[in-house]
Amino acid sequence: MEQTFFIVKPDAMQHNKLGEIITIIEKNNFKIVGLKMIKANEELLKLHYKELVNKDFFPKLVSFMTETPVVVGILEKENAVAEWRKLIGVTNSLEAEKGTIRNLFGTDKTRNAVHGSASVEEAKNEIKIWLNK
Ligand code: UDP
Ligand code: MG
Repeated sequence: MEQTFFIVKPDAMQHNKLGEIITIIEKNNFKIVGLKMIKANEELLKLHYKELVNKDFFPKLVSFMTETPVVVGILEKENAVAEWRKLIGVTNSLEAEKGTIRNLFGTDKTRNAVHGSASVEEAKNEIKIWLNK
C-alpha cells in the first residue's frame, strides 16, 4: 500500500488542533502506521527542505518549524501521496480550497498547519529523515 509522510506543524500544535487533524485523517480512511512527537532543529530541516535551503524565506521557515515540537507520521492508503495533498490543500493557506486542512487551520504561506510529501520518492526520504525507517 502507498505511504505518505505528514507533519502537524507548530501553528497547529499551538492552536490545539492535533486531535482534530488526526480525526480528519481517520475519517478520510488513511491508516496511521507511524507517529512521533519531535522538536525539529535546523540540521533536520535542511535535510527535509533540501530544495529550499537557498530560498530567502528559509530562515523564517526554520524559525517557524522550531517554535514548538511537531507531530510527524506515516499514512497509508491507495494513492496516499495525492490523496493527502488533496486533503491538505495548496501551500498558501489563504488560497487553500475551503474545507482543506490548510484552509481550516493555517494562516498564510508559511504557517500552513501541515506538511505532505509531494511524491512517493519524497515520502520515502522524509520517512527516513524523521523516523529512521
Ligand atoms: N513556504 C514559505 N514561503 C513560501 C513557500 C513555502 O514559508 O513562499 C513554507 C511553507 O511552510 C511550505 C514549506 O515552506 O509548506 C515548503 O514549501 P513547498 O513549496 O515544498 O510547499 P508544500 O509542499 O509544503 O506545499
Ligand atoms: Mg513541498
